[in-house]
Amino acid sequence: MSNELKIKFWGVRGSYPTPGAGTVKYGGNTASVEVCAGKRTIILDAGTGIIPLGRELARTKRTGEILLLFSHLHHDHTQGFPFFVPAYLPNARLHIYGPDGTHESMKNVLERNQSSETFPIGLREMASSKDIQAVRESQVIVWDEEGVRVAESAIGLSEEAVVIRIHKSYAHPGGVYVYRITWRGKSVVYATDTEGYVGTDKRLVAFVKDADVLIHDAQYLDEHYRGQLEGFPATQGFGHSTVSMACEVAAAARAGQLILFHHDPSYSDEVIAGMENTAKSLFAESTSAYEGLEIGLGEEKMSVRLQSPAMRGRDVQYAQNG
Ligand SMILES: [Zn+2]
Ligand SMILES: [Zn+2]
Repeated sequence: MSNELKIKFWGVRGSYPTPGAGTVKYGGNTASVEVCAGKRTIILDAGTGIIPLGRELARTKRTGEILLLFSHLHHDHTQGFPFFVPAYLPNARLHIYGPDGTHESMKNVLERNQSSETFPIGLREMASSKDIQAVRESQVIVWDEEGVRVAESAIGLSEEAVVIRIHKSYAHPGGVYVYRITWRGKSVVYATDTEGYVGTDKRLVAFVKDADVLIHDAQYLDEHYRGQLEGFPATQGFGHSTVSMACEVAAAARAGQLILFHHDPSYSDEVIAGMENTAKSLFAESTSAYEGLEIGLGEEKMSVRLQSPAMRGRDVQYAQNG
């Protein structure tokens, strides 16, 4: 329904895409999440999950105006953009916002990703109109009756306005933006590529406070993080969290539910299912993100469509196979 703030996951994997028999349940595409506020489409990151999302937006004719937010510009968050169908449509208008204060401007990085040596079509040759802007942590992104814009404050906005706040985290190499999207009193926080601190990341907890949904990096098993998983080096300082770190943030911030995100590319469906169980023991309302997961935040109550029939079909097949 158009009264719901809707979240749909198109890519949930970290680092690199992982097709194959061991990842059919949760999916192998890299980070991309769709958030719909009524008819407005907001996309978080452009990993390979944005490729099927782009086809769906074109099929359903929802390409007029799209807001794409980059958490940061690592490959697994940008590599799907050259294949994003709406970017090639002359009537599409893309607002592309992301981090400020990097060595190279966001626009330059996106242009370099599609230099003639690396891709046949340059960023400027894509037919859509593009408003590319670096935004600062102190600013808010607003989408209301007047369109999409960057503002210095959220004071005096209409009830219909989608308001997006920014938290700059230093818990990832090069830094990362965490976004909080609020519409009609419901909010979702997207906190990918961030590593937990001993005693919890207090600034992040304050930013997440009382969010209905927290999407949080949960790349590693605790034993992997500590270097106790055979064949895997310790990952402290890599800029990613364990399940328990994600649960700590969700609990401290009193989030409504936690979605574990940015799954390690070496982990199979069984491992991720196990991590979900661990999470539930620490924070009951936890779910491991999978491609196709949809969450609807309605005005009266929250509904979670945990599994589509197609997914259940795959579950059955998976169980029979193993
Ligand atoms: Zn990443
Ligand atoms: Zn990253």
